[in-house]
Amino acid sequence: MDRDRILLTPGPLTTTLRTKLAMLKDWGSWDGDFIAITARVRRRLLDILHGHGSHVVVPLQGSGTFSVEAAVATVVPRDGHVLVPDNGAYCKRAARLAQMMGRRVTVLPTGEDRPVAADAVAAALRADPSITHVVLIHCETGTGVENPLAAVAAVCAEQGRGLIVDAMSSFAALPIDARQVRFDALVAASGKCLEGVPGMGFVFLREAIVAGCAGNSQSLAMDLHEQNVYMNKTGQWRFTPPTHVLAALDEAIEQFVEQGGQPARLARYADNYRTLAAGMQALGFRPFLDPQVQAPIIVTFHAPAHPAYDFKRFYEGAKARGFILYPGKLTQVETFRVGCIGAIGRNEMSQAVAAVADTLREMGIPGGAPAP
Ligand SMILES: *Cc1c(COP(=O)(O)O)cnc(C)c1O
Repeated sequence: MDRDRILLTPGPLTTTLRTKLAMLKDWGSWDGDFIAITARVRRRLLDILHGHGSHVVVPLQGSGTFSVEAAVATVVPRDGHVLVPDNGAYCKRAARLAQMMGRRVTVLPTGEDRPVAADAVAAALRADPSITHVVLIHCETGTGVENPLAAVAAVCAEQGRGLIVDAMSSFAALPIDARQVRFDALVAASGKCLEGVPGMGFVFLREAIVAGCAGNSQSLAMDLHEQNVYMNKTGQWRFTPPTHVLAALDEAIEQFVEQGGQPARLARYADNYRTLAAGMQALGFRPFLDPQVQAPIIVTFHAPAHPAYDFKRFYEGAKARGFILYPGKLTQVETFRVGCIGAIGRNEMSQAVAAVADTLREMGIPGGAPAP
């Protein structure tokens, strides 16, 4: 079967043919045509955030983590102190990278099955005035839980601390309005809810803090201040840009706008989520999260309790039927994850549920019920 499989993963994800076709061309990085694409993508990203006049957006080569690392390096002074509320794997990753680049880090642990509590963040900031910045993961992709961005941003603004938001798996799907939510940096990437291909991230920086970021970064390639200065002056990227990735993102954003922007994207993902949740529930599967705290981005399910269950065989069965699932990221309980994002809709989601049902039958498992 040479048909593309449907990726039910939180990036890379399924893209449209139009987006794929946009990559069939070579570009000179210094050429006016490519410079125009960079400028258009930057302008449209600011449209989506409602950040014109208040924010700049700085694209960066690499996967999403490169941009998180760059945001922390650029925004947090070397003697800064970062608080990371931790309710999952991506929070832990952010804390680790901040620590590895020599920033002081305090972790605020929270259960993996619930959102970060804004009042716990407020208490931690009150208790330690040396904390300069909070790093918040908006949608913790490790489980799928949505953290309260607006409430945490209000706490940071009130207490005069900086805020860096990893909105990698939420930007362009969940509403984020820079006119209403105050943050210093917000990070996302090409290959998530904008439905481009992976290979670059971008960081929104509040204009008021940009000048003060000069000299913070201990890394040459990850210095967003330098990248911004150079890009504003020349229209070009500082180092070799991911030309095909940017062309694909430009085309993906064009479709995003045509389809009705963020509200339409959220509506499609929410519909995908409902179709998946209802179908899986009918098969006996139980989600890890309470639906109240679940973002319609990625869903974690408990593994079936049946002794014949084995993730690898389950995965291969779904793959043979055209669907790529995602392993769980929890250490305490056995789970697997199913993404709701990408250029897919209700039909693909119900076909995915049918593929799961068929795979269970083949494995001799009567249903998806987890251990009680
Ligand atoms: C995808 C993602 C990232 C970036 O991961 P990469 O593998 O580096 O692309 C970071 N944070 C969150 C919340 C994500 O979902």
